[in-house]
Amino acid sequence: MQDIYLDANATSPVLPAAIDAAIDAMASCFGNPSSSHAGGLRARRILDSARERARRVLGAPFGRVLFNSGATEGIQTAVLSALCALRERRLAGEACGELLLYGATEHKAVPESLAHWNRVLGAGLALQAIPVGADGRHDLAALRELAPRAAMVCTMAANNETGAVSDLDGIARVLEESGSRALWMVDCVQALGKLPLALSAGRIDYAPFSGHKLHAPKGIGMLYVREGAPFTPLLTGGGQEAAQRSGTENMAGIAALGAVLAALEEGSTFRSHAAMAAMRARLVQALRKAFPGIVFNTPDEHALPTTLNFAVAGMQSRDLLDLFDAAGVRVSAGSACSAAKAAPSYVLEAMGLPPWRSSGAVRLSFGPLADDAFIDAACARIRRCGQVAQAAAHGAALAPSSLSGQRHGVLQLSGEGRHGWLLFDHDAGACVAIDAPAGQEARIAGLVRGAGLRVAAVLGTADDAAGRAGRAALRAALGLDASAGPFGWPEESAAVALADGRRVPCIALGAQVLARVDRGDAGPGAAQAAGIDGSAGTGRTCYLLGSAQRDVDAGKDRLPAAALRMAFVGLGGAAALDGIGPARAMDGVIVCHGADAGGSACTRLAAAAASAASAAAPDCRPAAAEGATGDPAPPALQPVDLAAFLARHGDALLIDVREAIESEAGAATLYGRRASALPLSRLAEHLHHLLAAPQRPLVLFCRSGNRSARAALCLQRAGHANAWTLVGGIALADDC
Ligand code: PLP
Repeated sequence: MQDIYLDANATSPVLPAAIDAAIDAMASCFGNPSSSHAGGLRARRILDSARERARRVLGAPFGRVLFNSGATEGIQTAVLSALCALRERRLAGEACGELLLYGATEHKAVPESLAHWNRVLGAGLALQAIPVGADGRHDLAALRELAPRAAMVCTMAANNETGAVSDLDGIARVLEESGSRALWMVDCVQALGKLPLALSAGRIDYAPFSGHKLHAPKGIGMLYVREGAPFTPLLTGGGQEAAQRSGTENMAGIAALGAVLAALEEGSTFRSHAAMAAMRARLVQALRKAFPGIVFNTPDEHALPTTLNFAVAGMQSRDLLDLFDAAGVRVSAGSACSAAKAAPSYVLEAMGLPPWRSSGAVRLSFGPLADDAFIDAACARIRRCGQVAQAAAHGAALAPSSLSGQRHGVLQLSGEGRHGWLLFDHDAGACVAIDAPAGQEARIAGLVRGAGLRVAAVLGTADDAAGRAGRAALRAALGLDASAGPFGWPEESAAVALADGRRVPCIALGAQVLARVDRGDAGPGAAQAAGIDGSAGTGRTCYLLGSAQRDVDAGKDRLPAAALRMAFVGLGGAAALDGIGPARAMDGVIVCHGADAGGSACTRLAAAAASAASAAAPDCRPAAAEGATGDPAPPALQPVDLAAFLARHGDALLIDVREAIESEAGAATLYGRRASALPLSRLAEHLHHLLAAPQRPLVLFCRSGNRSARAALCLQRAGHANAWTLVGGIALADDC
């Protein structure tokens, strides 16, 4: 499957002409432009002609244009230059203002540089963000108020996350009208090749650029400095770049950037603004059809023609990213995501967007090299993603397992560091939710509705105020009435006898029963559990899932220890299960926790008990090795070793732990072997099945290796001796 690269605001592929120019500068014209011999002069010609082109493209016949390593360096140089000048002016008794103003949506390089140099130089100025409106543009009224006190103003020409194009003329007018003498830096990184530039004609003092955002290589950039604006070199030494930026020039980068600038001047390599806007409109149309719940986060009229930022109701940016990536479409989250939690975008938050739009944002960006065939292919792939997302909304996450063949299962619901569980049975057409994390009500309602299941109960393991409120919110989302007993337990239920003779309430879920064991009721372990979780033995419960047996003589149902499959213990720990049945018979019970315990959401009871015991005995060594983060590390298989591993182990099972929506969007085949789908969220349900053959080699993989590492660790802790994670996931196994 060919990549559809839609992340051009992060970086862009190098223009073929730029590659040729760089190779020429490395292989033929490799001289040092400071040398006076012919080799040096040839290199100097490349340097000079690149600078002349830069002046023409930037509209900068006057002032300095120097080559450097990129925008981050350009920003440092601009800030250092401004702060050194301000210090001198103040020492000379001039009033220069005390504020360092920056747009609230600037790239982090800007406020970080301001804070850094302010501290290093002891300038003692105050940093203040200029607010932006809902369209992402600077609030000019706020700027007008602040401008008289501003020593420096930093704004961007266009935002990298949203594509919002700033009103630079408006900002210049405000500075002019308020009589501000503030030095003005405009980060032009995202503007090059997409917006017209006439730098020398305006009052902008500093304008940094990065080559790699427009088809030049990484590590080459430019800084424009207005004629007469203060300047202090960041690097001194051999006096290169007229002593403005010392260090032997990056000639391959400069030659490549020169080729890109030549293409910009020549005018036919890159698409026009109107052509790019038409391409964006086609992408918008495809996205709207594919994702009916889509909302765009920047108005078109004030956005780069190459950038879209959107959110889809009911989907997190992590889900969308995984879906697009599985379909070979490379996009970015509009927010900084970690595996556990998606941090909302500060850019979208500054625009005042509601949390679901800032934490669910996705950025899609293309470059001016795009053509209609590329946009056709991108639209087709977006349509495919939409079909898969709609199928997922129809219950794919709750599909019967192709690995175990069972029509009942358990889906892990995770969010905000907590785990909940959805138990379902397709033959009974019913499901039960336990400890569903807050904020997932709409998703759960969609899944259940899509799979056509009736919700038999909405349960919790805690009966505190938060637990009750969470259950009420889910019941409301599911359209259920509010009435339910403690822990959400139905008013009417049957009873079942446990191995220790106690009779506890239970509800049927297809051929299985779910029994409720309140912590105060449990055997000898209950007091200990109460001590561990701080509850007084009341207010917490746990649930047992297994196959009840009819005791014909007694006319009652029994749930013997050997018939138990799973236990849902919430945050209270597995000790509540002590004494329910003989330890040996209970060892294989899969314990599902309310938060990670030993790095896993679930494990075998025997393993949970062993880790509780080792936690209590401080000199016991953990069973698993430790990774760099201090977390236990599972056995890891490098992609280069995969072929040999599979050849050595003909019985190895390849397991794709990506979610159903991702495998649907792009099924994974490694070395011609089709993987079995076992989403991480369904691992608990499959532990029994996989542990039945604890020596059979398992190769677990996902998109990047994070989720498969967690799955392998979970299997290892539960007692599987041969579960490997494929390092780097399919991202690094592309050649396989
Ligand atoms: N400014 C903007 C708007 C950017 O998008 C970026 C890069 O993402 C930078 C500055 C920093 O550029 P570089 O990392 O190339 O130095």
